[in-house]
Formats: sequence, structure tokens, C-alpha cells
Amino acid sequence: MNSNEIDIHKELKKYFGFSQFKGLQEQVIKSLLNKQNTFVIMPTGGGKSLCYQLPALIQEGTAIVVSPLIALMKNQVDAIRSLSSENGVAHVLNSSLTKTEITQVKKDITSGLTKLLYVAPESLTKEEYVAFLQTVTISFVAIDEAHCISEWGHDFRPEYRNLKHIIKQLGDVPIIGLTATATPKVQEDILKNLDMTDATTFKASFNRPNLYYEVRTKTKNIESDIIRFIKQHKGKSGIIYCLSRKKVEAIAEVLQVNGISAVPYHAGLDAKTRAKHQDMFLMEDVDVVVATIAFGMGIDKPDVRFVIHHDIPKSLESYYQETGRAGRDGGEGHCLAYYSYKDVEKLEKFMSGKPVAEQEIGFALLQEVVAYAETSMSRRRFLLHYFGEEFDDVNGEGADMDDNVRNPKTKVEALDQVVKL
Ligand code: ADP
Ligand code: MG
Repeated sequence: MNSNEIDIHKELKKYFGFSQFKGLQEQVIKSLLNKQNTFVIMPTGGGKSLCYQLPALIQEGTAIVVSPLIALMKNQVDAIRSLSSENGVAHVLNSSLTKTEITQVKKDITSGLTKLLYVAPESLTKEEYVAFLQTVTISFVAIDEAHCISEWGHDFRPEYRNLKHIIKQLGDVPIIGLTATATPKVQEDILKNLDMTDATTFKASFNRPNLYYEVRTKTKNIESDIIRFIKQHKGKSGIIYCLSRKKVEAIAEVLQVNGISAVPYHAGLDAKTRAKHQDMFLMEDVDVVVATIAFGMGIDKPDVRFVIHHDIPKSLESYYQETGRAGRDGGEGHCLAYYSYKDVEKLEKFMSGKPVAEQEIGFALLQEVVAYAETSMSRRRFLLHYFGEEFDDVNGEGADMDDNVRNPKTKVEALDQVVKL
């Protein structure tokens, strides 16, 4: 063990109170401390933040952390501040700050107090900020949610495309990119657009062995089917995703009428109601939340026991993220998707109003969802293959946790199903 190694374990304990690194964290941190460009692909909850927070805290200078969501940045800054006696250890730099606040932030950075500076990508493009950052010591730049740079990701943000040029202006600083998006296409885009094809890549497995994957054909009886499913999981927490707000309201009502405690959640509800419904779910005042994809970002309820997709998701990436909210505690998580080709056509129609390039990507992503729904092979193997990971569907962890493996379809049955749709 070299001294470097002993130190980071000690620092981990000192700052975060953890006695062990999780997964690939240690290797990632060493790579970054060696000033190498580093690329981290880990599923949500894998512990990506610590991969840049710890090196930032123990190095000289300020680390710049680019993150797309102001709310998430604020949470992280509060968390970091609680680890230290100095408020100035972490700051957010954005347009909502007053002149006095900006002066304070700059002072803390210049004096070496600030270890982490969180910025939204659009703030970083500001001339005056760049000019200031050129005058101080930057330890490294972290790009969180790095998939935002790719049109093939689920959350493309054009501002991310400028990052490369801005980082170049800051001198020769290492970059760490982090994402939970595992598709090879997105990864390639990230490395290219951040100009870090030389980066050392660390990729964790995306297998979630405790999740059971199931697809059911969507019929007229879907509502009673869902009700039956929920009653079989009485008292358990679950999420039902629907495509439209209208459907969210309708399903929530049907469930309520049938004696299931459920609340709706979508962007059409006012902020107060949304917060209330989210809290009710987290506090277990209700069992089920019926939601559009507006629900779930940053939700960390460990014992969600099922995630139902009333309508198919727009990509396998989204499906993985949404189903990933089940079984965080390692316990059972049932992921049930309803599928009909009519829904695919509906989604295609939805997209037809969009620019051609976007449509093409949207169609291609949707075709993968169709293939997943129609496959007769191990769904886990299919999903992981999509993420560039080979899964052994005989001996792999969680191999029997899917409908196709438990109840293999005969070829004739499989064909039958296709024809019926
Ligand atoms: P990600 O960004 O990959 O989704 P986070 O950085 O938000 O994940 O971390 C997820 C959770 O894991 C957090 O609650 C964090 O405190 C915890 N965590 C991170 N590293 C460790 C560790 N070494 N030991 C124990 N818990 C950890
Ligand atoms: Mg994260």
C-alpha cells in the first residue's frame, strides 16, 4: 500500500464517515488524482458524486462541477457544507446571486477556501466568469450527467456542447465526466464532445439482479389487470408511469375508487400539490403514485416494490432509469410494462412534429423498445446488451428474474402474439 492509498481511505472516513469505497470509486479517484482525464459510467445510486467530491476536498485549488439542475446543485452544496465547518467550502455560481454574493464567492475561491464550485453550463459561458476562473487555481473540472452532451441521451442540453471550448480556456486541467447512461453511442459522444478520447474509462455493471422484468400485452382489461397486480402486492409501494397527464389522472381515480391509496403526479399540478403528493408517497401515507416521467428524478425511496409502465417508454434508457427506482434496498422489485403496437404508433405520431434529425433518433430508440417488448430471450440479457454489457443468461446474477426465462414461449406462441397485435 502506498501512502496515497492510506490517505484516501483516511480522508474518506474523515469527510464522509464511510469506511469503504463503493464499487470503482477508489480507482476513479486515483485516476483523477493522477491528473488523468477520467470517464465514469455507473448506474444511478452508484456513488458518482463522491468520485469528484473527495478529490476536490483533498486537493489544492477549486474543482468546477458542471451540473444541469439547480435544485440538485443546491442539495449537493448543502451536503458538502455539512461535512465542513466552513460554508465557503462549496458554492453555487449562477445568475440568481446578488453582486455581494458573487464578490463573496470570488473571495472564497481566491483565498483557497472553496473546494467545489457548482455551475450550470450556461453560467460557465459567461465571459466574466471565465476571465475570473482563469486567474485562480482549478484542480479539475467535473461534468456530471455528462450524457446531456449527446443527442442520443435522454436529456440533451445544447449548452453542454460549449463546455469543451470553455474548459480549454482554463488551461491544462483534468476532466472527469460522469453519467448513468450506458449506451455505447452516448459514451462515444461524450468522449468526443469533451475532447477526452484519451480518458481512462471506468464502467460499473448495470445489472440489477433483484429486479424482475415482465412485459404483458396491453388489452382492454389493462385497468383491472393493474388493480389485480396491486392487490397482490397489498401495502407495498409502487409507481405507475403513464404517458399523458390525462391518463395519470384517470388511472389514479380508478385505483382510488377500487380502494387503493394512490395519488397522481404530473407537471400540470401546481408545485404545492406535487410536493404534497411526493411527500405522501415518501412518508407512506399512500402506496401508489401514478405519474408521468416528471416524477422520480432524485427520488430515493429504498423500498419501491414495483414500477408499472401503463404505456411503453420512449427508449430503453428511460425504461432502465424508471424501473431502476424499484428495489433500491436490494429487495424485490417487479418491473411490469404493458405493450401494444398501437402505443408505438401513437408515440411515432407524437414525434412527427419534431425536427427530422430528432425524429430519426426518436424512431431508432423506440424500435429498441419494441424489440425488447417482443423478444423471447432473457430480457435482462437484452437490456444489458443494449448497454454494451454481455450477460450470461444461465449463470449470471438474477438470470431467472424475468418472464421469458421463467416461462419460455414456444416459437409458435411467440409468433401468435405478434400476429394478434
Ligand atoms: P449517483 O450520483 O451515482 O446516482 P450518489 O453520488 O448520489 O450516486 O450516491 C448515492 C448514495 O451512495 C448516496 O447516498 C451516498 O451517500 C452513498 N455512497 C456513496 N459512496 C459511498 C460509500 N463509499 N460508502 C457508502 N455509501 C456511499
Ligand atoms: Mg449523481
